Amino acid sequence: MAGYFEEMGWTELADGEQPNHLLHMARFLIDFGMYEDNFSGEWPRLPPPASKETVKNLPEITIEDDDSSCPICLKNFQSGDKAKKMPCLHLFHSTCILKWLERTNSCPFCRFELPTDNEGYEAFKKEKKRAEQRKEDLDTLHNSMFS
Ligand SMILES: [Zn+2]
Ligand SMILES: [Zn+2]
Repeated sequence: MAGYFEEMGWTELADGEQPNHLLHMARFLIDFGMYEDNFSGEWPRLPPPASKETVKNLPEITIEDDDSSCPICLKNFQSGDKAKKMPCLHLFHSTCILKWLERTNSCPFCRFELPTDNEGYEAFKKEKKRAEQRKEDLDTLHNSMFS
């Protein structure tokens, strides 16, 4: 186990030191195989893959005009190409976006996030939203008290 932490530049606990939050999170990341990402106290840059169900249900269209290009491979669409339409309405070659969504859940163009099958990540997102909500509530409270 020590090897993991050394590889990542994390030091092991000194005698009598309590395991801290960061290490707990680190273990979590290792379990999800995401330890190669820089750890910043936020979820690593690359969220988990999009939920298989969602990906399966993305509408596929056939390109009719060829004046736009696929943001992943940067090639112009050819009329007749198969493309997937994301919920954010961005279009990608089916082959390009499917490969992309196997790695991460967001639109490569605008970062619109699809649901994932990763319970840990979904919980993280919910918690983050709650935290943002709490902050908003506090700001509102603060403003109503001091303005
Ligand atoms: Zn493409
Ligand atoms: Zn998009």
